[in-house]
Parts: sequence; structure tokens; C-alpha cells
Amino acid sequence: MLQSLKAILDIQEFDMKMIRLMRLKRERMKELEHIDNLRQELRAQQAEKESEIAELNRTTASQEIKIHEIKEKIKKLESRQASVKKVDEFNAITQEMTQAERERIATEQIASDLIDKRHLEEEILTKIKESLAQSEESSVALENEIKESIRMINKEGSELKIGRDLLAKSADPEIMPIYQRLLNNKKDRVVVPIENRTCSGCHITLTAQHENVVRKGERLTFCEHCSRIHYWQEIEEVEGSGATPKRRRRKLASSNA
Ligand SMILES: [Zn+2]
Repeated sequence: MLQSLKAILDIQEFDMKMIRLMRLKRERMKELEHIDNLRQELRAQQAEKESEIAELNRTTASQEIKIHEIKEKIKKLESRQASVKKVDEFNAITQEMTQAERERIATEQIASDLIDKRHLEEEILTKIKESLAQSEESSVALENEIKESIRMINKEGSELKIGRDLLAKSADPEIMPIYQRLLNNKKDRVVVPIENRTCSGCHITLTAQHENVVRKGERLTFCEHCSRIHYWQEIEEVEGSGATPKRRRRKLASSNA
């Protein structure tokens, strides 16, 4: 295996942790957003209900003015009727009064319906306010918990970045940008071992010739299917001593599972 790839593999482990961390952070941010959306929704419902009630109040008030006007009209008709002498005129005013009386009853009915409706809307508004208060109370604890976990994620992320940047400084300046570009594209491991003559990145079978080139480890070799960089694992096991290669191997095996 190319010596310069070993450093890249260590960087890759940092990057994988970072990617997992950022995914977790996005999920947690979404949870916060969801809680906030629910609250916004309830607030919007409350505002809508309040404006409906205000509108009902305005309509009711105008109906009450109308009722008052009709009553005034009836009074005037009564006093006019008291002073008329002709039967025809008297009857005409009676008819007009009956008409006004009908109008008064109808308008009062409308006003009463409006008041009923307003009571109903007020009950709904109370319920909205209650559930808003409830949701605000219960979401505070949850939100704080999520915010705290995001804070921890950020902390871990900065620590990872420091370690990663340190490694990147000493990494091969030719391979590093290639690795970086591949990583940006795939957001996944891009330096992968060949296992059973198969790319462990895309799981497509490779040729014996390709495997040989990788096994020799003389130059950078890319998977012709997924463009990942290949390395040969057994060489490392034979050449390497101590626990480091084994540990890395186990890590890779478990993360590819
Ligand atoms: Zn591949």
C-alpha cells in the first residue's frame, strides 16, 4: 500500500466522524424547526380566531344599531298614528308598523345568531390558547435538550476539525486534493480496500489485473466504476506490526457492514 495513503486513511476516519456528526446535527436542527412550526401554527390559528371574533363583534354592533333605528321608527309611527284622523291613513301607518315590527324581529334574530356564533368562536379560541400554552410549556424542556445536544455536537466537531487539520497539513499534497474532491462528491469513504476482488465502496467486481496493480501499491489506483481510491489490505497486515493496522481493519469491516 502507498505510504501516503495511510495518512489519508487516518484523515478519512476523522472525516467520517465529522459527516456522521453533521448528519446528527441536521436531524436535531430539524426537530427544533418542527417544534417551532407547531408553535407558529397554533399562533396563526389564534390570530385568525381573534380576527374572526373581532369581525363578529363589528357585525353584531351594526345589527344592534339597525335594531335601535327600527325601534325609533316604530315610535315615530306610533306618535304619527295618534294624530291622524283618516281611517285610510291610520291603516297605512298600521301596515308600515307591522312591516317595521317584522324587520325588527328578523334583525334581532340575526344579532342573536351572531352572538351565539361569537360564543362558540370564543370557546374555540380558549382551547387554542390552552394548547398553545401547553405546547410552549412542554416544548421548552425539549428545546433546551436539543440545543444542548447541538452545543455538544459543535464542540465535538471543533475538536475533530483540529485533529483533522493537523493531519491534513502533513498529508501528501498531491493526493490530498484528489481525496478531498472525491469526499465532497460522495460524502462517504473514498479510500477503500479491495475485498474478494470487489471494490468495497461500490461492490462491483474488479479484474485480476486491477487487483495486481493495487496489490503492488506503486501508484494511486482508482475504481473504474465509482472512482474511489483502492488500497490492498493484506499487504498492510503482513508489513504492519502492532495493533494499529488490525484496529483499522476492524473499524473498516464494521463500518462497511
Ligand atoms: Zn468502486
